[in-house]
Amino acid sequence: MPSILIIEDDQRIRESLATRLSERGHDVETVARAIDGVEQAVSGSFDVVVLDLGLPDLDGAEALRMIRAVSQVPVVVATARDDEADIISVLDAGADDYVIKPYSADHLAARIRAVLRRSGDAVEEDTITVAGLQLDLNAHEATLDGRDLELTARAFDLLAYLANRPGKLISKRELLAEVWRQPYGGADKTVDVHVSWLRKELGETAANPTYIHTRRGVGIRLVDPSR
Ligand code: CA
Repeated sequence: MPSILIIEDDQRIRESLATRLSERGHDVETVARAIDGVEQAVSGSFDVVVLDLGLPDLDGAEALRMIRAVSQVPVVVATARDDEADIISVLDAGADDYVIKPYSADHLAARIRAVLRRSGDAVEEDTITVAGLQLDLNAHEATLDGRDLELTARAFDLLAYLANRPGKLISKRELLAEVWRQPYGGADKTVDVHVSWLRKELGETAANPTYIHTRRGVGIRLVDPSR
């Protein structure tokens, strides 16, 4: 999983992002000051940097220029300013992408994935591993203990969504919105049907679950059975 440096002076945002991104398996470091952030960003220890533009000790755009002077590490800028001119100027200064506050950790994670895909370095990192389950997000292939799984595109997306959030109970509503792009709900039998296909392919049953656990009326979670 890509490691992330967050440069953000707002403690509340910093801590919540660190928690949410760590839960997804990222290594996350946070710093509050631009000057420390620049030093860390150019250290080569991080795959991506999230840089707040409004920092107390140095303007974020200036920090970005300092980073770019010596490093091509991907940088996602987080800004409260939705002024188009500001956004254009940070993109020109070498930002790879931007998010406008307030933004969710999910939104930021999606931007980070997109930036890493474009930067090309992370192609090998685009895998999710949970115990014996491995998903290659680029090739859309999944294996269990080395055995290829036969999954439809949608079943793969569902598995990837669950495997990206191991241990987290996810509602059918969220799955319909995020995997099926039906934010206003569809037939929730759709989810049930795909879950039973997944189970069959993973060699488990609702009565004897290994990876996929459902809680009736609440949601579904994928767990690491080795823990
Ligand atoms: Ca700030």
